[in-house]
Amino acid sequence: MTQQIAHFIGGQHAAGSSTRTQDVTNPATGKVTGKVALAAQSDVDAAVAAAQAAFPKWADTPPIRRARVMFKFLELLNLHKDELAHMITAEHGKVFTDAQGEVSRGIDIVEFACGIPQLLKGDFTDQVSTGIDNWTLRQPLGVVAGITPFNFPVMVPMWMFPVAIAAGNTFILKPSPTDPTPSLRMAELLKEAGLPDGVFNVVQGDKAAVDALLEHPNVKAVSFVGSTPIANYIYETGARNGKRVQALGGAKNHMVVMPDADIDQTVDALIGAGYGSAGERCMAISVAVLVGDVADKIIPKLVERTKTLQVLDGENLAAEMGPIVTRAAHERITGYIAQGEKEGAKLLVDGRQFDASKAGEGCGDGFWMGGTLFDHVTPEMRIYKEEIFGPVLSCVRVANFKDAVDLVNDHEFGNGVSCFTRDGNVAREFSRRIQVGMVGINVPIPVPMAWHGFGGWKRSLFGDMHAYGEEGVRFYTKQKSIMQRWPESIGKGAEFVMPTAK
Ligand code: NAD
Repeated sequence: MTQQIAHFIGGQHAAGSSTRTQDVTNPATGKVTGKVALAAQSDVDAAVAAAQAAFPKWADTPPIRRARVMFKFLELLNLHKDELAHMITAEHGKVFTDAQGEVSRGIDIVEFACGIPQLLKGDFTDQVSTGIDNWTLRQPLGVVAGITPFNFPVMVPMWMFPVAIAAGNTFILKPSPTDPTPSLRMAELLKEAGLPDGVFNVVQGDKAAVDALLEHPNVKAVSFVGSTPIANYIYETGARNGKRVQALGGAKNHMVVMPDADIDQTVDALIGAGYGSAGERCMAISVAVLVGDVADKIIPKLVERTKTLQVLDGENLAAEMGPIVTRAAHERITGYIAQGEKEGAKLLVDGRQFDASKAGEGCGDGFWMGGTLFDHVTPEMRIYKEEIFGPVLSCVRVANFKDAVDLVNDHEFGNGVSCFTRDGNVAREFSRRIQVGMVGINVPIPVPMAWHGFGGWKRSLFGDMHAYGEEGVRFYTKQKSIMQRWPESIGKGAEFVMPTAK
């Protein structure tokens, strides 16, 4: 039996009007488990109409009452955390403990959104001129949309909707059709938490749904997370249609390893950040930049650890890495490995050799591979330049700190980066000079906490505002300035010169 997965509009599950569907597959077994509806224009119109109808009342609801819904949602998420994590493992393939971590990092943002009354406080100046006060406040935008990638089907939507909704907007989520089920469970939990119908809606779909959202005059802002070419398209199309847009794109994250780094700690960090979630994280480390003579100390240990990675069905609690998300992604990644060999990189561990039957019962037809390790990768190679988005770690050798910084700064992406060192001055210089949005010092995956905001630089982010944190609150609200004077001071006649402080 395959599950039918459709939309959630105006507080109800909705089948929608389109007959187009896409298969949903369990990557561990390769079996089709569901069919997800791909929305037509009329489905998007129905979701926008529901969100538009719910907006005035929700925007008028006092922030503390909106926060109370978030508190209740938080409680429900904690109760249903494992259920959501199992859904993620079933459609994405990542190991269950990692999926639990994903839900937890989403919950962080809900906790942040619970503080919305404080976050929406404006600025007030008493007596800007005699008898006149001036203040600013922030008001919601209206209907806003979120378009999200396959790799974090719970966390990335939660980078967006808790903040957007708490700030008084109504929301339409267009999740990835690869792993659509958790979006509907989140919609049900929001409803159970007391969120009024129409405030949160889910439209499943592909490019047709995205284009309908980008062109809809009543959608005021679009948040996007996904690959760079699509992020670029969303930014340009959204802006052309007069929308506020934040579009987070792809990545190629480097870890610079200085000769004084703690070797065992660094190897642990590279293995976890390179192969965790099968490298399908936008903050995964895909390039190790080995400075000076550190390569000779690190490489033998990396080879040993890559060969002994526990690549197992994600539901097995011993698993360190699960399958690749789809057959197409598997083909893309194996293609990159072949390309790396052709370009002359030294293939130390070949993940293509992995025997799928070792991953667990019923896994023979799943999308499996082991970790791949390359040495002597150089900047002209495609495996260095392009985002592989799989369990492939490339080692680049450089002579010194300056060459390492120049290498990272010359790359087109600038999402995350890290530096492993025991030298405080190197750490400080690295943090200041590096042209990347999120920096870790002895931290391999520096995903900022809920109140700091997430975003890369260069072609990893299109737009001005990072996701969540205070930038998220600013993105989902517009500032209004009010200047007020009361009757006593009125009646002095018209003023024809620019008002100045009197
Ligand atoms: P993707 O770009 O293929 O898809 C993202 C979303 O865009 C999905 O909802 C998809 O349905 C939609 N989409 C796909 N093609 C489209 C098109 N032609 N027109 C309009 N919409 C389209 O990305 P993905 O494969 O789902 O996710 C992996 C990518 O996301 C990687 O590049 C990864 O680096 C990136 N990512 C970035 C961040 C970040 O914060 N910067 C976080 C997670 C993932």
